[in-house]
Formats: sequence, structure tokens, C-alpha cells
Amino acid sequence: MVSGNAAAQRALTLAARYPAAREALEFHARLATFTGDWRELRDLVAAHGPRLLRETAANMSEFDLKAAVDGYLHGEDRRHPESFFARVMLRHDPPQAHRAHSNQCPQCGEPPGCACLRKENDGSAFFLVCSLCSHEWRFARTQCPACGGNVEWHVAEGMDHILTQACTQCARYLHVIRADKDPEAIPEVDEVAAIAMDIWALEQGWEKIHPNLIGL
Ligand SMILES: [Zn+2]
Ligand SMILES: [Zn+2]
Repeated sequence: MVSGNAAAQRALTLAARYPAAREALEFHARLATFTGDWRELRDLVAAHGPRLLRETAANMSEFDLKAAVDGYLHGEDRRHPESFFARVMLRHDPPQAHRAHSNQCPQCGEPPGCACLRKENDGSAFFLVCSLCSHEWRFARTQCPACGGNVEWHVAEGMDHILTQACTQCARYLHVIRADKDPEAIPEVDEVAAIAMDIWALEQGWEKIHPNLIGL
């Protein structure tokens, strides 16, 4: 697993490179090294978080957090702002997967947050990256991880190491980080830099398979 410091460093490097995603990446850098309890997380969000999360944090009790963690483990809507807090707290203590399907993390059973290509022999190998614990596992690059349908790949403008993979059947998408092209890439961090592609995908009527920590 990538260390929090390496992830934070990468987020700050990308923040300088992609101004449109600067705020999201700077917030992500703080989260990457966060290891405190829920009160400290609430304070961090109150001081540095995006507006929606700040408002949620202001009204959140420990009871609410426990309810959110419970909901998260039962697969409740991950776009709900409370699920953000559950997810940050669960990262350090992910659940055990019980017979995960091939489109779920073999370690913790959660869906992929993004995918990556890594150098292998003369070509590359395709991996899905867990939305919770960042574990990577092999998957067919021609198949939609949500429904098994066919996918199309789109190139992000001005970001030649990120692709967007969209399903022609269920209209779900995720970003594919080309670690084969940029060996410095850390998939779950680089994924946050692709905000422009998220906005474009929303305009196409697509829905991300699993939102990232920033809620996109
Ligand atoms: Zn996992
Ligand atoms: Zn699909």
C-alpha cells in the first residue's frame, strides 16, 4: 500500500499542474495523511473541506457517524455527504471481503473507484483500484466493471496519462490512470485530478461507478 505521505506529496504535485483540480487535490492531500479520530476529522473538514461537507460536519454527532459507518457497510448511497466521514474512518479498518465478485475488491469487497494500467512485459496490464482500501486487482479491460457490457475509452484533454472508460450499455464510467505512461502516478490520487472529465461525463449523462472522496 502507498504511504499517506507519498499520496499527499503526489496530490500537491498534481495540484500545481492542474489548477482546475487544485482545491480538491489540496484537500485530498490532507486526507491522505489523516489518521485521527472522528472529532479531528470533523475539525479538519470544518477548516479545509468543501462547503457541503463543512455543513454536514457542523451538525454531525458521534451517533450520526456510527449510523453512517453502518450504512456504508450495508452499501447505502455513497453520494450522501455523511458517507464521506464513514469512508475516511473505515479506510484504516476496512471490512473483510466474503467471497467477493470479480468486480469487487478481493480484500474488502468494495467496488472499484478507478482503474489503472501498469507496465507488463512489452505491454500493459489492467487493474481495478478499490474505492476504499486502494487494493488493485486484475480485470478485463474490455468489460464494464458494473454490468459486464462493452466499454469505450476516451482521452482526457491536456491529461495524457488519464483515460475515461464508459460503458455503452449501462452508462457507468470510471477513470483509468496510465501508470505505464507516468510511473509516478498514484491511481486514487491522480483520479481526483480528472475533475474536467467528470464534468464532461456528467454532461454525457453518465454516472461514475463509485464517487471519489471529494464526492465526484
Ligand atoms: Zn478494498
Ligand atoms: Zn455497464
